[in-house]
Amino acid sequence: MLYLQLWALQRFSWCVSQAEAVKTFLEQSGYEVHHVEDGKSAIREAVGGKVDLILLDLVLPDMSGVEVCRWLKLNRSTRMIPILMLTSKAEVQDRVSGLEAGAEDYLSKPYSEMELNARIFALLRTKALQDELSETNARLQELLADVEMLARTDPLTKLYNRRHIQECVDREIKSAWRYGSPLCLLMIDIDRFKEINDGHGHRCGDSVLAEISCIIRDSVREVDIVGRWGGEEFVVVLPRCAKQDAEQLANRILHAVAQNEFSAVPDAKVTVSIGVASIPEQAADNSDALLDAADRAMYMAKKEGRNKVYLF
Ligand code: GH3
Ligand code: MG
Ligand code: MG
Repeated sequence: MLYLQLWALQRFSWCVSQAEAVKTFLEQSGYEVHHVEDGKSAIREAVGGKVDLILLDLVLPDMSGVEVCRWLKLNRSTRMIPILMLTSKAEVQDRVSGLEAGAEDYLSKPYSEMELNARIFALLRTKALQDELSETNARLQELLADVEMLARTDPLTKLYNRRHIQECVDREIKSAWRYGSPLCLLMIDIDRFKEINDGHGHRCGDSVLAEISCIIRDSVREVDIVGRWGGEEFVVVLPRCAKQDAEQLANRILHAVAQNEFSAVPDAKVTVSIGVASIPEQAADNSDALLDAADRAMYMAKKEGRNKVYLF
């Protein structure tokens, strides 16, 4: 009884002479059966409908069952549907070519209805396990992508974190020297940020950090890489960007921050200091060297009074 209820909604498609008798038998067993007359209709039905299993005759009016099988197994949307080949020829070669084309199983006519039923049941059981496995796999892939994303993202600003930025800088430095293209780095530090925290609270400080992250992200090109380097420090990696273009961008960010009214501290004047380091001007061959140069430039900007851009 449970068996009938479980499979009552299963649908089949197949092309077979004497199909009507098998159809009646399977329907009596609780299956929903769709019978089509030729190979093309079988393919159409399999692609368009929700088919759980295909009973496929080897000899069809328009094409061979092996061709239909091969086509269904090559097609992404149908390749997971199990195929049970029904062959009146008992020759080994027929069975082999069916299996080679991708059929999961075969049955030579005349076959007993009991055996047909048992084989269908076995194929559906395997298919159910495979479906479960693919679903678990897809969920795991999503989880893995989330974990990878978290591992390289800063939770407060949603920018890349220090480790990922360092990897990006190393990669871009290699590429810059190999292809002879310029590369620039901005080190951005919020001026007197401690005063914002002390005067308005840490939560307001967090909000300023998040707003400045948005300003920086909105100022750069799609190919540029923005990260949070430390507490109130940001790094922007500018591949294939010449020093004077990086200077222009740094000034744009500087003015955008200075003119922004911050929602958490509307009356406060928030500014940043920006250091710029570049290749080929710096002979840096690793991320530490270039980041260090940008950091030193940033401290020069602080020394010159803050709210400044300083270039090496
Ligand atoms: P300067 O102009 O010389 O850079 O001065 P400053 O006050 O910005 O620099 P300082 O290094 O003295 O202080 C940085 C402050 O940033 C201290 C620290 O509490 C704060 N900070 C670091 N990370 C966070 C964070 O995630 N959230 C908040 N709200 N504050 C942070
Ligand atoms: Mg700092
Ligand atoms: Mg600071």
